[in-house]
Amino acid sequence: MAHLWMEREAGEWAVAMLDSEAHVLDPNCDARLVRADERVADPVSGAPLPPAGVLLVRRAPDDEKCWALFCAFDDDVRVNGLPVAGVKALADRDEIRLPAGMRCYFSAERPARVEPLPAGDRVIHCGRCKAPIAPGSPALRCPECGVWHHQNEAIGRPCWTYGAVCGACPCPTAGAADYRWTPDGL
Ligand SMILES: [Zn+2]
Ligand SMILES: [Zn+2]
Repeated sequence: MAHLWMEREAGEWAVAMLDSEAHVLDPNCDARLVRADERVADPVSGAPLPPAGVLLVRRAPDDEKCWALFCAFDDDVRVNGLPVAGVKALADRDEIRLPAGMRCYFSAERPARVEPLPAGDRVIHCGRCKAPIAPGSPALRCPECGVWHHQNEAIGRPCWTYGAVCGACPCPTAGAADYRWTPDGL
């Protein structure tokens, strides 16, 4: 899943998942990342505050790596040092600077997680054993090639961890849940 590395203090990075269709990145000091449909309420009136800050929107419903940034024209938002005039498509490892000076990095990397296989229109076959994977059952998607594998001990198919590498590409199965790239040292 695409995510954002946000610098809390110099050299100290926190990761926030882009797990919704749209998120608002509040440029004020603590720069919270909130889902756009969970807009922050005014503490006095309780009314939802108008959109503030930088909006991150997923550009394609079926591509979780594809995001764009929207900001006001007079906001001093920069991507890789260049001012953004309203909208900018984000690429892996883009550096985002907010008006308050806070630094973030967009990462399209997708560390592997065991998760229920999403229900879809077509049958998904396991990259290892080639048998179909039941929607909703524990599965894992290769972080390199994106091919799904069973990871279902209950039915005796721990297909991802069964081999040293992915059933469809040379990606090692050990450590697949780790972030391969972080902004540490940048
Ligand atoms: Zn399998
Ligand atoms: Zn793979």
